[in-house]
Amino acid sequence: MLDYVDLEQDLDAEERMIRDTAREFVEQEVRPDIGEHYLEGTFPTELIPEMGELGFYAPNLDGYGLPNVSETAYGLLMQELEACDSGLRSMASVQGALVMYPIHAYGSEEQKERWLPKLGTGEAVGCFGLTEPEHGSDPSAMETRAEKDGDGYVLNGAKTWITNSPIADVAVVWARDTSADDTPVRGFLVETDRDGVSTDEIHEKLSLRASITGEIALDDVRVPEENVLPGVAGMKGPLSCLTQARFGIAWGAVGAARNCFETAREYAKDREQFGGPIARFQLQQDKLAEMATQITTAQLLAYRLAELKERGDLRPQQVSMAKRNNVRMARDQARIAREMLGGNGITTDYPPMRHLSNMETVYTYEGTHDIHTLVLGQDLTGISAFE
Ligand SMILES: Cc1cc2nc3c(=O)[nH]c(=O)nc-3n(C[C@H](O)[C@H](O)[C@H](O)COP(=O)(O)OP(=O)(O)OC[C@H]3O[C@@H](n4cnc5c(N)ncnc54)[C@H](O)[C@@H]3O)c2cc1C
Repeated sequence: MLDYVDLEQDLDAEERMIRDTAREFVEQEVRPDIGEHYLEGTFPTELIPEMGELGFYAPNLDGYGLPNVSETAYGLLMQELEACDSGLRSMASVQGALVMYPIHAYGSEEQKERWLPKLGTGEAVGCFGLTEPEHGSDPSAMETRAEKDGDGYVLNGAKTWITNSPIADVAVVWARDTSADDTPVRGFLVETDRDGVSTDEIHEKLSLRASITGEIALDDVRVPEENVLPGVAGMKGPLSCLTQARFGIAWGAVGAARNCFETAREYAKDREQFGGPIARFQLQQDKLAEMATQITTAQLLAYRLAELKERGDLRPQQVSMAKRNNVRMARDQARIAREMLGGNGITTDYPPMRHLSNMETVYTYEGTHDIHTLVLGQDLTGISAFE
């Protein structure tokens, strides 16, 4: 496996163990069938509890049966899952960073005890409802409303492009609280079996096909006061969750790119044209040299993020830089790997085209590439170019 600047040497025993466990799980349980899942547009839902048993959901959090591993270990886990498929990493990212994290950070003790152990083992599945049909890059313009009614709230609105909503037991829904001054955004834990909730699946995807995506329609949905996340109000709530998930994406994208590189390297050494392996051509070596360099520099950025996160110094803008850079890198390298595989590269027998197609989603979700450019532009100049 590509590790050009010997980063592995600095991993501790627990980090190696988590990486190896994830790698083995992927190779034995998921990789053999992932091409088929991709073609069928399905996710191997039967593996959700096993992923929980292996500690793949929010292992970097503490308490409630969660292992509290290092941020590097968490990053390596995301890297290994996405080396298989972005859909697999998305499952763990959403469950851990977008559902368990807000409950852990902003939930009441009762909410934590009710949900974190079940979500951690995969007994329950969660989803994160922020994006709406008319509001993607600008979620603060959301139209979903929560109106105070007696000792609870009534929710109305529509969320779309929600990973796992059709199979979720609970949705973290972000809505404007119309009963409070300035209608702040609040987080609501909405059990998906409540009256008025529907979660239709979106079937027409050509990207991230091995992942379940759906809508959340909320039609006069009543939730009690105790379902509101008490610890946060305003856009800080959803945005802080996205920072956690984007950290995982910055690592995961490196895994997808590495898998493309390894596939292309092996293929180039095996595939013979003009009387010998195509790896002997300088044009092919140039591609491999560039891929290895881009992957290595992206990996260094991911490692540095983990160090900063570990000591509590990580800024969201730094995460934006890594998400933006590493996903673009993976998208570019997947295309080059596909190219090196010739006609075979467009089939599900090899992963690069699947990764390339997945990267179109990863480039867009959790803040598009453009939006992270604007975040960096604002951070670097002090001037917002958002509007
Ligand atoms: C498979 C998949 C899974 C997803 N999972 C989830 C999930 O679990 N939960 C959730 O809440 N959301 C999820 N999303 C939604 C995702 O986060 C949004 O698609 C994303 O934020 C972009 O919003 P949009 O699609 O509405 O695009 P738009 O915001 O309409 O953007 C369209 C284009 O305009 C550009 N643009 C927008 N504003 C500006 C600007 N100010 N300056 C320059 N260019 C601009 C964008 O970069 C983009 O290229 C998912 C999306 C996909 C595809």
